Parts: sequence; structure tokens; C-alpha cells
Amino acid sequence: MKMYKCVRCGKEFDELPKGLIRCPNCAYRILTKTRPPVARTVQAR
Ligand SMILES: [Zn+2]
Repeated sequence: MKMYKCVRCGKEFDELPKGLIRCPNCAYRILTKTRPPVARTVQAR
């Protein structure tokens, strides 16, 4: 599951080097954190 996505080139990454918020592909500094859609389990009582 990819965690980060570059807003410039659209490339997705699993992880980033610590302290380095930058696209490894194009060196753009704005990345979005993509969260996997979490299915919530609701328990009926
Ligand atoms: Zn990029």
C-alpha cells in the first residue's frame, strides 16, 4: 500500500527517507498522504 503521492508527477511511494519530505522522483516538495480506505466493522448488539 502506497502511503505518499507526489502532487507534481503523481508518483506514489511507500515510504520516505526520514526527515526528507521530497519526491524521490522529481524532487518536488509537496506530497500528499494517501490513506487506505478503512472498512469499519460495526457490530450490532
Ligand atoms: Zn514527483
